[in-house]
Amino acid sequence: VKKIAVLTSGGDSQGMNAAVRAVVRSGLFYGLEVFAVQRGYAGLINDDIREMDLRSVGDIIQRGGTILQTARCKEFMTLEGQQKGAENLRKRGIDGLVVIGGDGSYQGANKLSQLGIKTMGLPGTIDNDIPYTDLTIGFDTAVSIVVDAVNKLRDTMSSHERSSVVEVMGRHSGDIALYAGLASGAETILVPEVPFDLDEVASRMASNFEQGKRHSIILVAEGVGKGEDIANAITERNGIEPRVTVLGHIQRGGAPTHNDRVLAGRLGDFAVRKLIEGESGKACGIIKGELVLTDIGTVVNSKKEFNMELYELAKRLSQ
Ligand code: ATP
Repeated sequence: VKKIAVLTSGGDSQGMNAAVRAVVRSGLFYGLEVFAVQRGYAGLINDDIREMDLRSVGDIIQRGGTILQTARCKEFMTLEGQQKGAENLRKRGIDGLVVIGGDGSYQGANKLSQLGIKTMGLPGTIDNDIPYTDLTIGFDTAVSIVVDAVNKLRDTMSSHERSSVVEVMGRHSGDIALYAGLASGAETILVPEVPFDLDEVASRMASNFEQGKRHSIILVAEGVGKGEDIANAITERNGIEPRVTVLGHIQRGGAPTHNDRVLAGRLGDFAVRKLIEGESGKACGIIKGELVLTDIGTVVNSKKEFNMELYELAKRLSQ
């Protein structure tokens, strides 16, 4: 490849900018011409593509969001849309594309590689729901935000309210709830991957209070249900009225942590080097600290395994 492009797609995540910077700067370092596509696949179809230089990615490593913006694009779900996108790359002589996004974005990248564009996927989502990588770019920052919020809730809970339900992001993945729960000492973690019994949750909570616990935090992944409904169900069972906090999009904003920036830098550079080596249709990931390449088709057809060991650990430590 001589010319490559980069785009961000799907939900934004902290560290996407650091990944864009890494792709652009590595590409230029290795002598490629590097282009950026604005607004994900929508920009690819509408030909919103510009050439980048070293300075175009200055002062973004620390910024949340994505300077390339992202979009959800229905038209790209059709073969016609995908062909239009591929054509817009080809007419500029761009034969490599790095897609930074989640599962849906990977599906789009897979389609483009079937049309002959050399594609690489980078896992950019706060949910950590992409298989064949231990971590996604943005997850570490999102977890830090939740932990920080729970710390603050603990201060006020110890003085006033005794229990809190905190609803966090994760429609299909409980990883944010799991890691933030473990790191913040939540008493209960409810995730879509593990069935739970509200009677048991409510009675454990009541007996913990009887034994002198001063606060109780229940972390709920949004895929399980609304925090408000969980709180009501608990009140019905044990009379305790937890306060509800929904963290929402705050979890997707702010400066990325150093972990996310380092991950973005490593993965972005890896994607470029693999494109130069002639790889295509691959997803870049990190497993046990090592950079790995997996067929993107395999990744989109798999489901990430939930870490039951950590879930059980969180239970043991929250007695
Ligand atoms: P997140 O999970 O973080 O929101 P995502 O990448 O999964 O990110 P989606 O909205 O699912 O977000 O996908 C982003 C875009 O990818 C879609 O708007 C669409 O343009 C494209 N896309 C999704 N699925 C497909 C598919 N099956 N074929 C082609 N393109 C797709």
